[in-house]
Amino acid sequence: MHDIKGHLHEVLASLPDGVRLVAVGKYHPCEDIMAAYDAGQRIFGENHVQELAKKQPVLPQDIEWHFIGHLQTNKVKYIASYISMIEAVDSLKLLREIDRQAAKHDRVVKVLLELHVAQEDTKYGLSLDACRNLLEEGSWRALQHVQICGLMTMASNVDDEEQIRSELMAAADFFDEVKEQYFGDSPEFCERSWGMSHDYPIAVECRSTIVRVGTTIFGERKY
Ligand SMILES: *Cc1c(COP(=O)(O)O)cnc(C)c1O
Repeated sequence: MHDIKGHLHEVLASLPDGVRLVAVGKYHPCEDIMAAYDAGQRIFGENHVQELAKKQPVLPQDIEWHFIGHLQTNKVKYIASYISMIEAVDSLKLLREIDRQAAKHDRVVKVLLELHVAQEDTKYGLSLDACRNLLEEGSWRALQHVQICGLMTMASNVDDEEQIRSELMAAADFFDEVKEQYFGDSPEFCERSWGMSHDYPIAVECRSTIVRVGTTIFGERKY
């Protein structure tokens, strides 16, 4: 069996203070997640509502779940009662729906705004301008049941370290811009979620505060 505990500890040992690990257990069975849990890990990430809905009830209730994938508006209701952070918010519509569903459970759900900085074409994430527009529009300020805690992004899936670095530095610079402009008086806006198995050491150099690592900890996924 893949040495989950050993790999988890290797990843943790390589992270500087102040960088937290989301262990991404998608497509891996609950036993694997339990192996990481028993080794001390408490923050786990999933990117499919159905899979998370199966795992969450049978796994320890003190797990902090991060939803890291694209979330359809009509599925927010299935995770609103327990989700700790929704990392990939890329529209005002989704933000509003999270607020509405969290209100029903009398909770505040933490969220990150997902940026699209990769040269690679992916469907998801806000361009820098779209993110500026969303924040400038201002109606997010009235939402009582979501807390915008920072930004999330994915670099292009390439071997070129300089390309990865320049994309993630663009995200880090953008964080500073919006922090100053919109969140100067909110210490909760402090998270920069970037870095996956292939690029988390670079992400850490680019001021990541959250890395989301799956394969390095759990092994290759079997789809
Ligand atoms: C799957 C996934 C990860 C983890 O990817 P690995 O390459 O297995 O570390 C991180 N972030 C997101 C958004 C993912 O979907």
